[in-house]
Amino acid sequence: MHFNSMVLSDHTVIYPAYMDKDARLALRYKIQVEGISMYCGCSVFSENKLAYAVSSDARIVPMHQKYEHNPLCIRAADKRNTSYRAEEDGTARAFLKFDPKNFTVPKEDRTVDKLPVESDSKKNISTDNPPLDSLGQFILQLNTDTYKERVTAGKGLISADYFLPALTSRLKKVYIDGINKPVKDLDLQKDYFSFFYQPLVSIEQGEHSQITLKGWKKDFSVFIYSSILKRECEKFEKRYDISVSEALEDEKLSPFIMASGFIYLRLSKRDTLYKVCGRLHIFLVNKNGLYCRNMEERDELDAISDFIRENSLYKTVQFHRIIDEERLFGILSCQGKRQILICKKSLPNGYAAEGTDHISFVTDHISSENLAQIKELLVGQP
Ligand SMILES: [Zn+2]
Repeated sequence: MHFNSMVLSDHTVIYPAYMDKDARLALRYKIQVEGISMYCGCSVFSENKLAYAVSSDARIVPMHQKYEHNPLCIRAADKRNTSYRAEEDGTARAFLKFDPKNFTVPKEDRTVDKLPVESDSKKNISTDNPPLDSLGQFILQLNTDTYKERVTAGKGLISADYFLPALTSRLKKVYIDGINKPVKDLDLQKDYFSFFYQPLVSIEQGEHSQITLKGWKKDFSVFIYSSILKRECEKFEKRYDISVSEALEDEKLSPFIMASGFIYLRLSKRDTLYKVCGRLHIFLVNKNGLYCRNMEERDELDAISDFIRENSLYKTVQFHRIIDEERLFGILSCQGKRQILICKKSLPNGYAAEGTDHISFVTDHISSENLAQIKELLVGQP
């Protein structure tokens, strides 16, 4: 989903999907009266700029026919090419590998399970089909989408605590394909399942496994099948090189451990309703609430955050995160300056043509030292 931006000829990066009608009409004025041009964000890296305009009814319209977008661009083709789309009507749509309405009780737990085993209506996945997200990928996309909405509104980086209400608010506009209400409105009592995204307080593994989440007013615990919790804890340890229990005991890490997934309402043999967490993802966020895929990424995102704060660049510099192109880390943009594309690996020739709208900075690890160099490139421009 990273190519849903537009870039203006004054180097500003914008995201029409997060702009309301007034903002779009202001953009129309800029284009028509101030003579600024607007290009699809995917074409910033190529020599053929794909120009767009804003119509009088505030739609984003292409200025030519037969555009060749980057294959990852949201505007590329009739065929869906991303698993998560921020649409230009302000909503977002996620396409998942699994059916969130249901879950399968793990085999290991079935002997002690008194419930009917439900089948997981898995969709057929072949390589030709458009991409679909796992739970973890969906949460990463959702997290990045929330951040993009904030950056677009000029709000930028905030603390992890404040990121949470921003994400909850974004969920009012996020739909899972095949479900006709936004994720925020999924109701445990009416729909028998609901989505959660909260800080993880504790886990209890054993005969009666449960997870405890930090709620708005007080903490709450949910029953979970032991094997689901065990599997997720193993994945966490593999990703971050620390166990969930150790991380929960670590003062520096514990406020940044999040749990997200789906809770289901089920009927027990005794005909009583109970809640169970059937799909769980445990992950770390950085100090701004941004999803981290590993510890290195967490250090790097924190370094960007410190860089912006220590240099008082809140108002002038924006950080745009890129998550689905492994060679790229993100973009730092400053109005009226050429943007800096932070690359983890050098880009193939032609991909980053000299003289285009950005300066690329290649580093395999982002640290305070090379951010000082990046600052020179960004702010020191004539
Ligand atoms: Zn494009």
